[in-house]
Amino acid sequence: MGDGSIGENYGRIRAGIPDEVALVVAAKTRTPEEITEVVAAGARIIGENYVQEAEAAASALGEAARQIEWHMIGRLQRNKVNKALRVFDVIETVDSARLARAIDSRAAGPARVYVEVNVAGEESKSGVAPGEVKPLLEEISGLPHLRVEGLMTMEPYFEEAERARPYFQRMKKVFDEARELDLPNVKLKVLSMGMSTAYRVAIEEGANMVRVGTAIFGPRAG
Ligand SMILES: *Cc1c(COP(=O)(O)O)cnc(C)c1O
Repeated sequence: MGDGSIGENYGRIRAGIPDEVALVVAAKTRTPEEITEVVAAGARIIGENYVQEAEAAASALGEAARQIEWHMIGRLQRNKVNKALRVFDVIETVDSARLARAIDSRAAGPARVYVEVNVAGEESKSGVAPGEVKPLLEEISGLPHLRVEGLMTMEPYFEEAERARPYFQRMKKVFDEARELDLPNVKLKVLSMGMSTAYRVAIEEGANMVRVGTAIFGPRAG
């Protein structure tokens, strides 16, 4: 996985998925040089797990950082919300009313967010249970600064991508049901799911945004 150069890997993956599927480059632990390389190859959405890494990457990119849409894909601590709102265009990881309220109270204008769902109920992962999506969306819809544009999930890891398929199917159902809610400030367009191993399966099951790191940059050190 990820056996060409960073630019080649990005180009091959981008060319291999439908145009209407957004590709978030998951850049955690990657150096500003590596991120510069993927941007030079055409990447326009960068996902970061930490506010500080995003700040470092953005300052290394200089002018070019402005053509990037920055996505927060890691767990966001409430005391980092202010900084996160400065760096990120979209926060994909809202998983509690408390965090939603913290974002609402600090946002100067509309804040674009996704709700994170723990579709497999894994202890190690954040996100709300599928059954909590509706109540959380209802609560968020009363917050004037939030704009919920999508749902996000991290599928369980399997060497064999096919085994992730039932979780993508389940998530697609959660997404379709949530889309039927008619709530102010909630317009669900994006289903963000599928990482390096299983993004192709995720797209087959309805993802219109995938988040890929390892298949572009190679294995993470450590
Ligand atoms: C690291 C990460 C990814 C990408 O994972 P890879 O297996 O490296 O492609 C996607 N989403 C989130 C939230 C991540 O933390």
